[in-house]
Amino acid sequence: MIQPNVGKAKRGSAMKIVIVGAGAMGTLFGGRLARAGHQVVFVDTDNARIGAIAQQGVFENGVAALCEAALPGTLEGVADLLILFTKSLHTALAMKANAAALKPDGLVLTLQNGLGNGEAIAEVVGASRVLVGITNWPADLLDHGRIHVDGAGIVKLWSLTGEDSPALHTVSDALSDAGLSATAEPSVQQAIWEKVIFNAALNGIAALTGMAVGQIGDFGPVRELAMRIVTEGVVVAEAAGVTVEPDKVGASVEFAMEHHRGHKPSMLQDVEAGRPTEVDAIQGGLLKAAIQWGVAAPALETCAALLRGLDHRAAITRKC
Ligand code: NAD
Repeated sequence: MIQPNVGKAKRGSAMKIVIVGAGAMGTLFGGRLARAGHQVVFVDTDNARIGAIAQQGVFENGVAALCEAALPGTLEGVADLLILFTKSLHTALAMKANAAALKPDGLVLTLQNGLGNGEAIAEVVGASRVLVGITNWPADLLDHGRIHVDGAGIVKLWSLTGEDSPALHTVSDALSDAGLSATAEPSVQQAIWEKVIFNAALNGIAALTGMAVGQIGDFGPVRELAMRIVTEGVVVAEAAGVTVEPDKVGASVEFAMEHHRGHKPSMLQDVEAGRPTEVDAIQGGLLKAAIQWGVAAPALETCAALLRGLDHRAAITRKC
């Protein structure tokens, strides 16, 4: 039996929030925002997922939230906020299909991994309506509308244009009030780049070798490759004019090798399941910037080419 959502939006009025991408992260954010008193509608291309959510709501570690669900392109002029939580390879398509769901002054938030998501969304709705950021909340999808969350995380967000606004703080407050520990952070680009460098190093090597994070740390040649990718990523960021803290990124990779030993990064999970990876936004995103700013990044280039090879092989297998 699903209990009605008990929360009442604490600060400001309740928002109508459309979550595009009802996977692990969309379910986490949408479920918590619904329980905090917002009206949440999930949109996904997976009909079975939408049907299950419409019927049962969503569940985080067994705790239910009531939500609505709709197929892409069926909502018009309803959303104060649209949160895009597809994988980055679907960002442009998902945004184009669902832009009409926004109210005229509605905002779009992306906390997806990789570079270029905010810019792809801005091409559809205009840069002034886009909020960008990162999250390290961990969520695993168990079944349609059902996730397991082991641990806690944070959210950092700011506008894509760099400008401050009351609406940006309203969104940050709503996420915090829903228990998602959000901060409005003017230096959000630093956080986005530090996360993409971390992901380029560990996710890519895990996907290519089949190794969990601890195994990468234990084996010298791949550990050194991970640290070389971090060094290249930092050089690319600096060339692009983004300040990152090299020691902090290196230390977070080493911390993961020591303390998240059994973790299988999402890119490895994608390869094992025969799904396309986020290589274009992660390693490919850094590589694009390296080319744009005239910086050599041979380790990143090699990893990106090999990952694209894996994606290509998986695509051929899916067609057979
Ligand atoms: P997921 O694969 O679990 O969910 C993605 C959902 O998007 C799926 O339900 C899929 O059917 C849907 N989708 C695909 N194309 C669509 C379209 N055109 N329109 C609407 N829906 C569409 O992915 P996830 O793990 O939730 O990750 C989402 C993003 O968050 C990624 O960029 C990921 O790297 C990032 N992220 C994930 C985690 C995590 O712990 N899972 C943590 C931090 C960041």
